[in-house]
Amino acid sequence: MISISDAFELIDQHARVLPSQQQAALDSIDCLLAEDVASDMDSPPYDKAMMDGYAVVAADLADGIAELEIIEEITAGNVPTKTVGRTQAARIMTGAPIPDGADAVVMIELTQKVGETHVRIEASGVTPGKNIMPKASSLACGVTVLPSGKRLRALEVGILAEVGRDQVSVVPRPRVAVLSTGDELVDVTEKPGPGRIRNSNGPMLVAQIAAAGGTPESLGVARDVREELTAKIARGLEADILVLSGGVSAGVLDLVPSVLAEQRVEQIFHKVQLKPGKPIWFGKRTVDGQTTLVFGLPGNPVSSLVCFELFVRRAIGLLAGRTENELCAAEVTLAAPFVHRGDRPTLFPARWEDAAQRTAAPLTWKGSADLAAMAAADLLLQFPAGDAEYRAGEAISALLL
Ligand code: AMP
Ligand code: MG
Repeated sequence: MISISDAFELIDQHARVLPSQQQAALDSIDCLLAEDVASDMDSPPYDKAMMDGYAVVAADLADGIAELEIIEEITAGNVPTKTVGRTQAARIMTGAPIPDGADAVVMIELTQKVGETHVRIEASGVTPGKNIMPKASSLACGVTVLPSGKRLRALEVGILAEVGRDQVSVVPRPRVAVLSTGDELVDVTEKPGPGRIRNSNGPMLVAQIAAAGGTPESLGVARDVREELTAKIARGLEADILVLSGGVSAGVLDLVPSVLAEQRVEQIFHKVQLKPGKPIWFGKRTVDGQTTLVFGLPGNPVSSLVCFELFVRRAIGLLAGRTENELCAAEVTLAAPFVHRGDRPTLFPARWEDAAQRTAAPLTWKGSADLAAMAAADLLLQFPAGDAEYRAGEAISALLL
């Protein structure tokens, strides 16, 4: 049995960043860019009006007042056809190109039409460049707008669109297959018969994978039968990560480790000093240069949940090229006394007593099969190994859920 930190180290050693691939920018939120993206044009591509109003020669408004001849109307998407001379103006809309001769835009609110042909303007401080965004002032053609390694958010998708890119090279999201094992499991849509329970881990893990930045693939349930496990595990080994739930403890039908060994999955560790989650299994298979990391999570739902958040989340982050994919850690104050017993570090569910003051109260919790009580949990308190009595007001480290 190894420590949690040794388990982290082993995962870090074996989880390699996935090769980059070209894919739709829209499918790449949270992915790391794997190329420098350069602008294919100037932005704005022309001197651009930033207001609805009149394009003028600033010198005409040196006194703050002028009556000018309107020579044309320029809407966004059209180009000017005339040069604005002294005592002239062009009606212009936001986003339209500034006509030759004009060097400022006066906003419409400061103007008044005089008949059909003229406009009277009363505006002070109209200097050259007023309300104009110069060509290439946001981006110059050829300049790198997004460097390799940048994590894509919606705003980067917008910048990519601005420079003509709907496809980009990124580190893809890891594909994570989920297989729940156990003769007792029935699908969520079924009413369990005698001795049966619903497969709650499968949907929970699918949701956790998506939340952690992976692309989940559900393989449903495998019964505790060697042939069925073998076939379904073989399918799961096509993914970047295979997550199994159940079958890694000491029961007579806990066949997962031996079936994995038959499939040439090399065991890296089995059992971590942790409560809940001790039986966790981790291994790796590399065939034809393609590596699959395999996690066998204990079947008890809270063990499965906790092991995912500690270990699988970390691996997903590493494959995706991200160093920080872990749950946030925080120092909190115990709102109530707590007695810890046992020789393993324990993650114990708690709720905020007062989130602003960072005080947290341990929940009434029946252990690793009690998923329902976890619904009230905001955080997991991290108690070190060893018997100890904690007083209210003591500081303790926690992971935020
Ligand atoms: P195992 O790790 O297979 O020994 O299972 C430990 C406990 O977790 C048993 O009580 C199982 O019935 C339960 N369990 C296993 N798999 C699941 C699952 N997918 N959903 C809910 N409970 C499960
Ligand atoms: Mg089982």
